[in-house]
Amino acid sequence: MLDTILIITAIVLGIITFTLWTKLNTARTQNAATERKLQNTIEKQREQIRAEKAEEALLLDAIGDAFLIVNQSLQIKLANNRATVISKLQTLLGRSLPEVFLSEKLITAVEQQIALDEPSSTRIIIDSGAHALGSTHTDGETAWVIQATPLPNHIEDPRYCIILRDVTAEYRSDQVRTDFVANASHELRTPLAIINGYLENLLDDDVVDAPATARRFLTTMRKHGDRLSRLIEDMLVISRLESGEAASINPEPFEFQEAITDVLERLEPLISERNTRIRKNLPTDPFIINGDKFYYTQVLFNLIENAIKQNPSAKITVSITLTPIEEKQFKLAITDDGIGIPSSHLPYIFKRFYRVDKHHTQSSIKGTGLGLSIVKRAIEAHGGTIEAASQPGVHTTFTITAPTTSELPQK
Ligand code: ADP
Repeated sequence: MLDTILIITAIVLGIITFTLWTKLNTARTQNAATERKLQNTIEKQREQIRAEKAEEALLLDAIGDAFLIVNQSLQIKLANNRATVISKLQTLLGRSLPEVFLSEKLITAVEQQIALDEPSSTRIIIDSGAHALGSTHTDGETAWVIQATPLPNHIEDPRYCIILRDVTAEYRSDQVRTDFVANASHELRTPLAIINGYLENLLDDDVVDAPATARRFLTTMRKHGDRLSRLIEDMLVISRLESGEAASINPEPFEFQEAITDVLERLEPLISERNTRIRKNLPTDPFIINGDKFYYTQVLFNLIENAIKQNPSAKITVSITLTPIEEKQFKLAITDDGIGIPSSHLPYIFKRFYRVDKHHTQSSIKGTGLGLSIVKRAIEAHGGTIEAASQPGVHTTFTITAPTTSELPQK
């Protein structure tokens, strides 16, 4: 009897154990499946976050401006590629803004904007060399617009988004425009004042009744009137070339040797007066180029006239050398052996209104200081370049390299 009870108990226990074991196994399998599912979901979410972050970083890097997030003590919490580039450092995270951008002006501007605690924007001009901001402009002053915006949801540890935009190009073109207006007004005022002065003399002193004196006054007035016309004409040419209108250049095939002959004919009175020797090294066959004949004539005229005009006393030789070169290009060199241009002035001679001798006297009033800037812009509008080299007393050479075809750069 006891044996039977023991056997039954053992069987029941066995069944219970088996049932429990089976249930446990099922639960384990189910748990493992749930765990796998959970892990999959977490991994997917992580991947999604990673993708979103990569997209965010890409977007931030695609911005042309430097983008930074800083805390109140100006410690950098986030920086895009451009910020790294302009700081010229490898990593910015964790560093402080004054350590990264060495410009005191910039830091002061950021601090003032942060203190406002509202979105704000300001523009600063930074001297060259005094900062670590890597503007694309390497020399001279650079201009920056700084935008600062407090970020919401950072009450404990306030954060600010700082955007630095390099506006040097706009700033410089504004300055060039302002300088041009100032210089042009000055240049126009001088001959006008002289004309008005002589007019007053003519009227007040009854000079009209003294024909010889009146003629002398009128001759001077005409000279200054001519100068006014030339200044205005040159300014119009420059503004047309700078307007960027494609129509400012009208390419057509023309023979270069012919253009040189035309210019030399127009300059003949000056050439004879100064006893200038002209040496031509030109191709024997007609050299046809596709360009704007008006501007090329102006280029030749300015360069050859300059060579003669700048050397009033010496009997000089002007050489005109035209050489076709590879890849549908040609070189044109105008050389003279006159007084030359001191090396300290060479970098500036293509600037508008720049003259080596600023105190132009009666004898040199013909120059407008615009000739070389017209030459440079005209050549560049044809996709070419111009260089000047000079060894005073030995030679002064202007070398143009330009395409022979009309495949002009799109403006
Ligand atoms: P400008 O109307 O005064 O001639 P440009 O722009 O043509 O103005 O030239 C600028 C300055 O460059 C001139 O004033 C002159 O001082 C200098 N220059 C240009 N060409 C020569 C040259 N061949 N020899 C010496 N100086 C030159």
